[in-house]
Amino acid sequence: MSGFLEQVNTAFDRAAGFTKHDPTLLEQIKACNAVYYMSFPLKRDDGSIEVIHAWRAEHSQHKSPTKGGIRYSMGVSDDEVMALAALMTYKCAIVDVPFGGAKGGVRIDRRNYSEGELERVTRRYTYELVRKRFIGPGIDVPAPDYGTSSKEMAWIADTYASLSDGEIDALACVTAKPLAQGGIRGRTEATGLGVFYGLREVCNSAAEMSRLGMSPGLEGKRIVVQGLGNVGYHAAKFLQDAGAIIVGIAEYRAALSNPAGLDVEAVNAWRIEHGTVIGFPDATGIPNTLDGLELDCDILIPAALEHQITVENAPRIKAKIVAEAANGPTTAAAETILEERGVLILPDIWLNAGGVIVSYFEWLKNLSHVRFGRMEKRYEEGAYRRMLSAIEKSTGTKFPEDEARAITEGASEQDLVYSGLEESMSAAYQQLCVIRERHVERGISLRTAAFINAIDKVARSYSDMGIFP
Ligand code: NAD
Repeated sequence: MSGFLEQVNTAFDRAAGFTKHDPTLLEQIKACNAVYYMSFPLKRDDGSIEVIHAWRAEHSQHKSPTKGGIRYSMGVSDDEVMALAALMTYKCAIVDVPFGGAKGGVRIDRRNYSEGELERVTRRYTYELVRKRFIGPGIDVPAPDYGTSSKEMAWIADTYASLSDGEIDALACVTAKPLAQGGIRGRTEATGLGVFYGLREVCNSAAEMSRLGMSPGLEGKRIVVQGLGNVGYHAAKFLQDAGAIIVGIAEYRAALSNPAGLDVEAVNAWRIEHGTVIGFPDATGIPNTLDGLELDCDILIPAALEHQITVENAPRIKAKIVAEAANGPTTAAAETILEERGVLILPDIWLNAGGVIVSYFEWLKNLSHVRFGRMEKRYEEGAYRRMLSAIEKSTGTKFPEDEARAITEGASEQDLVYSGLEESMSAAYQQLCVIRERHVERGISLRTAAFINAIDKVARSYSDMGIFP
């Protein structure tokens, strides 16, 4: 199997063939601008010393800052961070978030480290990034990814702020922070919620559903999710709340199935309590977790890691839609097999953009130093109240108080974040559909449409800067 970066570049080249951009410009867009590899010693709790290997890749500075998560996983390598950083550049362009792409990673399995050890690793990693100017509100802004969460982001923000000597925007150096440390409501669930909005948009398209021989709407759709972490859990939860049936969950070391539906909340509570989904009642256990991907379902959502759908298992995937919540879960060769079988792939560079969209809102909040909705909420409520009372006077009907409250309530920070996320996911999907339609005679995939969209937008930035014609 070829490397992750090579797979991303293959998808890029395929899409570039549909554009008329100068080859040198395409070469610049594709190139990874900078990669910083570091190693440092970690003193373990037992007194022994271990050498930690870590990376940060900044793929493109056509917009500043660069943006992308930090993952803690044994699979981290220069190839992986460069591939993921490139995906971030294209993802930001597709959803009109004005950042370049970046990604970082530390090669550790977090399960083997105490909280104190993880804190020492995170703070030292941040220190190294500061030293080399690979972090900063206007330089490069990390976020969580596989194996990290708001806790690590809090350590990063604190370390950066303590080294930044009173920089007023210091908190904007990282996103997905806890609320009390400059975070934003809605960031934790943002990627999963974006997956939900994206899938809902696709499933509500009568044309898309009729091509797949499915009925429109999410209700009753049978879904399998791989990875019940931040992204997978929230996506599954929102989908279940909307009436979809979660018939399978594939987790680390085992999968679960129940054609009548698994209770996502209950499975998650079990996983947290026991450290595994194994033993969960009301489900059939599947010892080889990868087999879970082959369960009978309408939609498969890989939400764990890259390279999960390969030439080996692609012929046996039963889903009609593969919704890429994870980055790079489908290999290029597997994609060809799925497409030949008429499976619709919703590409990662659009579908899992919810995290970076809401991170953008958090960054804006940090730079403006004011919570979204703070200035206008009460004003809006007053205006709606006056409008409602004019309607009541002219019609002679009084609205019940709970209904009146629902109509007149001003938008909270979370309402605004959800609304901005929904609009961004939906607008981006419409753009991809227009591009796909433009090349209908060549039958291009949504992934190729997404790459064409990204290439065109990044190319425009370079020509606006006067660097390329
Ligand atoms: P996470 O660490 O919160 O969750 C990952 C989950 O996958 C864990 O529950 C883990 O036990 C499970 N898992 C690990 N190996 C597995 C395997 N072989 N089979 C099944 N399950 C397995 O990570 P996350 O933040 O949810 O990220 C998941 C994916 O989504 C990654 O590809 C990441 O790059 C992508 N992503 C994350 C975000 C974000 O905001 N967190 C944004 C965009 C994309």
